[in-house]
Amino acid sequence: MTTKLYWQDPYQKEFQAHIKKIRPSKSADSVELLLDQTAFYPEGGGQPSDQGSLNQCPVTYVYSEDTFTWHVVTATTNTFSVGDQVFGVLDWQRRFDHMQQHLGQHILSSVFDHPFEAHTIGFHLGERNVTIDLDKGPFTQDELDKAEKMANAIVFDNRPVQSMVVTDDAYQAMDLRKTPAITDEIRLVEIPDADLCACSGTHPLATGEVGLVKIIKSETYKGGCRLTFLCGGRALEAFQQIQLQAQQSAAGLSVGWPELFETVNGLINESKQLSKENKEVHQLWSYLERDHLLSEATVINGVSVVMMCDDNMDYKRLTFLANSFREASNCVALLGVTSQSPRFVLLNNTQLSSLSMQNLLKESIHHIDGKGGGNAASAQGGGTRSEGLETMLSEIQAAVVAMLTQNL
Ligand SMILES: [Zn+2]
Repeated sequence: MTTKLYWQDPYQKEFQAHIKKIRPSKSADSVELLLDQTAFYPEGGGQPSDQGSLNQCPVTYVYSEDTFTWHVVTATTNTFSVGDQVFGVLDWQRRFDHMQQHLGQHILSSVFDHPFEAHTIGFHLGERNVTIDLDKGPFTQDELDKAEKMANAIVFDNRPVQSMVVTDDAYQAMDLRKTPAITDEIRLVEIPDADLCACSGTHPLATGEVGLVKIIKSETYKGGCRLTFLCGGRALEAFQQIQLQAQQSAAGLSVGWPELFETVNGLINESKQLSKENKEVHQLWSYLERDHLLSEATVINGVSVVMMCDDNMDYKRLTFLANSFREASNCVALLGVTSQSPRFVLLNNTQLSSLSMQNLLKESIHHIDGKGGGNAASAQGGGTRSEGLETMLSEIQAAVVAMLTQNL
């Protein structure tokens, strides 16, 4: 068994140990070391493993195998020998961050356990986000605010965090929030008047060190909810980021922080109104443009044939124009734009189903190296060769004129 120094003193940043075993790692540039004791926490219980160094060689991952703790170290097979004494140094910033998040999780889970009666069924401590999954929820913003205040009250109380290793029989008699998955060397972590649960992770010795518990997201998850939250240093970083973004946004709008929300709301409403007006203008323009094109169209047997190939019009306006043509009768409209890439819409608003836009498209689309599809009444598509679009539409126009003339 590897002695767990991190249970005896979670603040131990350096330690000495002896190498018991060495074995190759999956990674060619690493070896795995088994030590007689370690201050490195191995991945488990939702908490990622510690990192740091052993004799100045980087420790990238630490994991448990039965009662042994293996350290994945970037080194060659000749770097270490069994029996060597090694000097370990933890990446303390990473570890303390994990301790803050982990104890924050205990506190938040205890608050949701009582009085909300929502039990924690999952915990994940990631590089950026920390989440708990509850078997109940989602909760209203008022309920989340209340839970957050209760959690932070426990932090502000600066209650001592106690841990003890108990036997299987001893814990059976206790009222635990979370029962252990193992039956030997069960470690209990207690926050007085708040929480008692089985946990092998690392935690600060007082709740005050969590700094702040802040829920930042709540979402429905597996019949309950998933809460994303930040504690301590992560909460501070998030606040700094939000502050910076809010300051920059406020400065860009030439207002102060307090007016930011109201100003942005006003801009959103203004933008919605402008979009509505813009749509109306586009619609009005499309009818005028359609009527103009129809007035100049070639008319064969009562059918107006319109061809347009525009270098400046964007696709959005083409769509509006095509829609206005859909409302016209007895016309064939061959509409294309090349402003970004060649795009086109072919419309057959006649009773002549033999005049298939889809078939005409297939025969001519090679001019623009394009793709498209549709049916007899309507076809559309786009391509990559803008210079070929006018040729394509002219070819289709000639075919339409010929078919309509034959029908005479
Ligand atoms: Zn824990």
